[in-house]
Amino acid sequence: MNIDLEIFSPVQQINSPLFDARGVKVFIKRDDLIHPMISGNKWRKLKYLLKQAQAEAKTHLVTFGGAYSNHLMATAAAAAKFGFKSTGIVRGEEVDNDTLFLCRLHGMELLFTDRDSYRDKPALFNQHFGHDEQAFFIDEGGASAEGAKGCSELVDELPESYDHIFCACGTGTTAAGILNGLNRHQLKTKFNAVPVFKNGGFIKDEIDRFLTQQTDYDLHVGYHFGGYGKANGELISFIKEFVPATGILIEPVYTGKMMFALYDLITKGYFKSGSRILAIHSGGIWGLLGMKEKFK
Ligand SMILES: *Cc1c(COP(=O)(O)O)cnc(C)c1O
Repeated sequence: MNIDLEIFSPVQQINSPLFDARGVKVFIKRDDLIHPMISGNKWRKLKYLLKQAQAEAKTHLVTFGGAYSNHLMATAAAAAKFGFKSTGIVRGEEVDNDTLFLCRLHGMELLFTDRDSYRDKPALFNQHFGHDEQAFFIDEGGASAEGAKGCSELVDELPESYDHIFCACGTGTTAAGILNGLNRHQLKTKFNAVPVFKNGGFIKDEIDRFLTQQTDYDLHVGYHFGGYGKANGELISFIKEFVPATGILIEPVYTGKMMFALYDLITKGYFKSGSRILAIHSGGIWGLLGMKEKFK
């Protein structure tokens, strides 16, 4: 079976009186439309990992994530689509939620593990699947050079050039991939990473790990809203205004923080008048399901 998806990810302009007032143009690349479950950067990160698994005749994908992980869901759906068995090793005590329901529905087996053991993923893999010749290790979030390679292809698809690209960062693999793509095309576009974790400065090491050449980029570490999966009223209000104004769904874990950062920086006059800015919609809108209470 050929492991590939036909990529549908148009670039669309979004409008706002704020953009007119500051003289900037804002576009969004709709990676969220690539697949309903294997959304956004998760497909890009899985593509070459799955091809590698197939080349090594591995039939069982084993990967890792928290109980609300978009990566677990994407891996479950990709495994089902391309004929792999899948296991998700989930951080923390056994729980049930919408994400895990959808993982199971796609045939993923779930193994819950305490937070201490979860830290050493290769050890967990060996403990449970060391004897399984069919098992293929995929790191949490799909973090890998293969993942970065897949993400670099996003740049091949850009119809025009931009002064800035904005992207939410978890493991930093997507950021590294896009930077590698910009370098490959010798584009001068400034890359702006928005870490969704507290103390997001550490993401620099993670991004640099997968860069094919040393590159400058901007890290905007002030938009974590208290840390991973955390949100406050300001972020929720922003999302509640953005979605009806644009018709584009975003969520509080990744894309909401990235778009908030972009709007905030535009408001503060960070960009030169005439700037063309591209935001990456990296998908993950199912993350809304775990945050419904915060919207009340
Ligand atoms: C996983 C995820 C990210 C983070 O991607 P990294 O490559 O881990 O930095 C960003 N946005 C969304 C919607 C995600 O699901």
